[in-house]
Amino acid sequence: MLHRKRFGQHFLQDKNVIQNIVNAIAPQKNDVLVEIGPGRGALTLPLLQHVKTLHAIELDRDLIPILEKQCEGKGNLIVHQADALEFDLAELIENKKMLRVCGNLPYNISTPLIFHLLDYAKNISDMCFMLQKEVVDRLAAKPDTEHYGRLSVMTQYHCKITALFDVSPTAFFPQPNVISSIVRFVPYQPLPFVAKDYKLFETIVREAFNHRRKTIRNSLKKIIRDETWAQVNIDPLLRPETLSVEEFVKLSNGSDA
Ligand code: SAM
Repeated sequence: MLHRKRFGQHFLQDKNVIQNIVNAIAPQKNDVLVEIGPGRGALTLPLLQHVKTLHAIELDRDLIPILEKQCEGKGNLIVHQADALEFDLAELIENKKMLRVCGNLPYNISTPLIFHLLDYAKNISDMCFMLQKEVVDRLAAKPDTEHYGRLSVMTQYHCKITALFDVSPTAFFPQPNVISSIVRFVPYQPLPFVAKDYKLFETIVREAFNHRRKTIRNSLKKIIRDETWAQVNIDPLLRPETLSVEEFVKLSNGSDA
């Protein structure tokens, strides 16, 4: 079977795994469901049976005729030949209905893709993805644990994130070198903690985790004034991985840098 490495193509083969993923997505008839990277339709075909309309965004134009043939007469599939990193999801919103997003993502672009999708968080009710387990561990990590870091804070600012189950490389062709995991994102509507200056919040989180071993006072001394620590009631001698999303937000809101 032809596959392109540069497009991160690993096609799902295992019927049980496919069924488990479809169950996790839990498609409902009236959903506006969007699948990213449908490939040859391993998930697309079973998803189509549950929803009235399925949008699929696929970059590889050579796969599209194969996908369309596979899904012919099986439901209303709207294929968008596009780079998901640049695709304007707002185009798919009809009658203000929230979008549901899913897919077995190309692992090479998963992090920028998640951030691109988070730009539309207000219009998304949930997202269910297959990603590298190592990335899912970081996305879903709680403070003070090994995998907690910048990715956890920046994504958990926007969403409740739950790791669901792992998938072995043997479920794919060709087999990836890594274990995969299914993860669910539910964007907060509204956000529980709002950064008054989102750019500043991003800078603080990035600088804090640039030096995991340093205290936050040292890492952030160019951004946070000495008196701010007491005002926000955060111990400046802590390391960044012990701070919750709420505390990072508090720190950025309390600083008038
Ligand atoms: N969903 C299929 C499956 O599970 O068998 C294929 C999954 S494969 C891991 C990732 C898919 O994303 C491929 O079809 C690939 O061509 C597509 N893809 C890669 N980069 C993309 C991008 N930037 N935008 C949209 N699709 C992309």
